[in-house]
Amino acid sequence: MFPAAIQPNRFEEKLSAHGLTLKRAGLQTLQINVGRKCNQTCRHCHVEAAPWRAEMMPALVARRVGEWQDEMKPNHYD
Ligand code: SF4
Repeated sequence: MFPAAIQPNRFEEKLSAHGLTLKRAGLQTLQINVGRKCNQTCRHCHVEAAPWRAEMMPALVARRVGEWQDEMKPNHYD
């Protein structure tokens, strides 16, 4: 058994076995979840947002995201 830090990447092994490679393309859409507070409680919510949730993106992180947007210029925001 390998320690977690040196586990072989099984996904890359599988791609290689099929003669495939996976390369990142240019950024198209940037989706930002700024917090988990929401006035809805949808059962399908992928961030488990709800009116009682209080987690919010810290100002320092929000500022960094803004800088990153200026730098990367995604085509779409969500
Ligand atoms: S999916 Fe989540 S974030 Fe969207 S409205 Fe429903 S509870 Fe709110």
